[in-house]
Amino acid sequence: MTEDSAITVFDESEPVWNSCAGDGQIIRRELDIFGESVDLLICVENKQATLADIVPLARAVSTKITDKVTKMVLVDGGHIPCRKGCSACCYYLVSLAVPEVFRLRQDTLAMPQMRRLSAERACLSAAQRILGQQPPDLFAEAARAGTADSAAELLNAASKWYADFKLPCPFLCKGICTIYEQRPMVCRDHSVTGGSVACGGGAGEAQRIYIPARMSEVLGRLASELEGTSVEALIMPFALIWADENQRRRRRRWPALMMVERFVEIVQQEISKSPAQVVASA
Ligand code: SF4
Repeated sequence: MTEDSAITVFDESEPVWNSCAGDGQIIRRELDIFGESVDLLICVENKQATLADIVPLARAVSTKITDKVTKMVLVDGGHIPCRKGCSACCYYLVSLAVPEVFRLRQDTLAMPQMRRLSAERACLSAAQRILGQQPPDLFAEAARAGTADSAAELLNAASKWYADFKLPCPFLCKGICTIYEQRPMVCRDHSVTGGSVACGGGAGEAQRIYIPARMSEVLGRLASELEGTSVEALIMPFALIWADENQRRRRRRWPALMMVERFVEIVQQEISKSPAQVVASA
């Protein structure tokens, strides 16, 4: 079950009808993941919800999809080195969709004071380091072009530029993710087959596992539709500051049922674009 009461996703084993309180509605959907079915059973209460409120559902759906895909890779004899405690990819660019940014702010505000201050300081110091460097010209060129290809090019250029900083994620402490249960969607959706040494630029080979319906993209689309903006994403070190500067957007609400229905539709649309292969080239 997710941690938010307005929107709750159940495991098949849970006693659903006793748990969907008041005039809540149950939504049942089946997702087709490379020919295997993943069932969703979601209780939505008759309430208004913020963008942050949809994130626990996205986390739960991401877990269900990645579990299914992981099982398929393992059954085919693949080795997946990704696990809690591996931080090989925690030095790369992590982008968050707007709902994730607001949820991360909510999660950090709920932390004990010392932990929260330390996370805020780490984000600030990483942000200062980034702002102290001139971004490459390619950023401006790609932004001016404004096409889908240029957006992919921009992301590529940004990822390479960011990797050169060799900045650990502000939430990485002694090689451990301090927000593992609340980590961003790109962290949840990223896994490889092969060896983790290759992820850090070392010897060996790692191939990226394709996850249908990446939740960062689903949440980005959902927020863009609801707010009437372009699809936006923030990089991790700037997320908390940006959330504080966008309080009005953070508090905006929509009917929870409408949000969930549209979220599920976007998940299904993204899944329909999946390639035939689970393992893609790195
Ligand atoms: S949020 Fe956690 S898993 Fe993601 S990059 Fe940061 S430390 Fe690594």
